[in-house]
Amino acid sequence: MAMYVIAGRKARALVLNFLIVLLAACSGSRESQAPGAYSSSRPKYLFLFIGDGMGPAQVGLASALLDSGRVLAMTRFPVTGMISTHAENRHITDSGAAGTALATGFKTSIGTISMHSNHRDTLRTIAEMAKRHGMRVGIVSSVGIDNATPACFYAHHAGRGNYHDIAVQMAASGFDYFGGGYAEGDFPSKRMKHGASMPDIPAVMKTAGYRVRAGREELHAVNPATRCWAYTGYDDKAAMSYAMDREGDELSLAEFTRQGIRLLDNPDGFFMMVEGGKIDWACHANDAAAAAHDIVAFDDAIAGAISFYRLHPKETLIVVTADHECGGLSLGNAARGYETRLSLLRRQKVSLQRFSEKVGAWEKSGKVTFSMVMDSVRVYYGLGDGQTDSLLALSRQERGMLRAAYPSGGVGTKPREERYGGADAFAVAVTRMLNSRAGIGWTSNAHTAVPVPVFAIGAGAEAFGGSYDNTGIAEKLIRLARFGSRQ
Ligand SMILES: [Zn+2]
Repeated sequence: MAMYVIAGRKARALVLNFLIVLLAACSGSRESQAPGAYSSSRPKYLFLFIGDGMGPAQVGLASALLDSGRVLAMTRFPVTGMISTHAENRHITDSGAAGTALATGFKTSIGTISMHSNHRDTLRTIAEMAKRHGMRVGIVSSVGIDNATPACFYAHHAGRGNYHDIAVQMAASGFDYFGGGYAEGDFPSKRMKHGASMPDIPAVMKTAGYRVRAGREELHAVNPATRCWAYTGYDDKAAMSYAMDREGDELSLAEFTRQGIRLLDNPDGFFMMVEGGKIDWACHANDAAAAAHDIVAFDDAIAGAISFYRLHPKETLIVVTADHECGGLSLGNAARGYETRLSLLRRQKVSLQRFSEKVGAWEKSGKVTFSMVMDSVRVYYGLGDGQTDSLLALSRQERGMLRAAYPSGGVGTKPREERYGGADAFAVAVTRMLNSRAGIGWTSNAHTAVPVPVFAIGAGAEAFGGSYDNTGIAEKLIRLARFGSRQ
């Protein structure tokens, strides 16, 4: 009986080997069809782009809103795949468990940062492996640099909310470049622990030999091979502005990526993770226009990596994916049936978050009347009375609904929509109105379990085609880069 089992296993192994050879032969034939797109050489310049909350509908939405003739760079990649995202202990994941899977190749529990779900064993990340193999490492995110997704590449913690503990681990990582948002762990509220004040993060970074840089000129002046943490303007959660709200002196995700390439480029190679983190936040807030703009900003960052790939096509691998979907976005809704008008979203000029801040300021001033506010709704969202486009006109009933939502009881009494990122109820109502008319459907303010896309180009890219689990991304990167086993 035992012999039979072994023989059976051997037979299965033979069949498996045959299938692997067959698959390799198939990818070989594809290689001849697309010269330069595939290569079996070991990639030494590794890019992993993570669009947080970027499901297939989000990619479709951003594509639909581009100027005619323009295509997202990521969707032009020769290899496309799809991954499942579930966490070890919940079907719908979070950025901690999903980031851990992408960074280490292991499933873990919700809220965990690159540790086993037993919260005792740490999991080695692909960024740490790259560093150990003599490569330079960069971590970039448009949200706080100690937020779950970036943290999963340099830190290990049982709870993603321990921002100060996580941010301190940046300094100990020895990684070469951190860029994007600030560190939430440096905020006074996060630095108080057990009644004692913990050290400030810039000081911890400087002690560890990092140049701490804020702003464009300072970042551009950093010499390659100098360890650096660079950040730009940030909000009360340490995140960069939404792409559609960005002011001229604020750096973009693409600039942080290009500067990262400049600082990391060296003959021994590098690994860089770039997260478009606010795609997720826009989707939590059901703000389709802000999500689309942040995907385009994320794609602009990818374009920077493609420019580098063109110089080193045989040694560069670019993988783009997401950690999970968010918002249950659909392109089409019950109110509009087959009649979507996604282009209406182009009328929105600021994010829901920024519009909500404006509404809050108007309320505080006590001088802004409802009719003045409605003028602003026309400016920022295109919605208003007497619009020639019937889809942008407001009925008496809708105007009444907005009046009811506009705060009139004085400072501090206005309703807040916690599910929509704490936005003002009036701003939420306006944003929902435009989304609905465009034909956008949102089914949730949380993440969903919808599988997410993978796009790949460069050395070893063919390994990322097909449908598999999110742990497969790190497994494949580790194998292709010859970092050894996952642990
Ligand atoms: Zn989220």
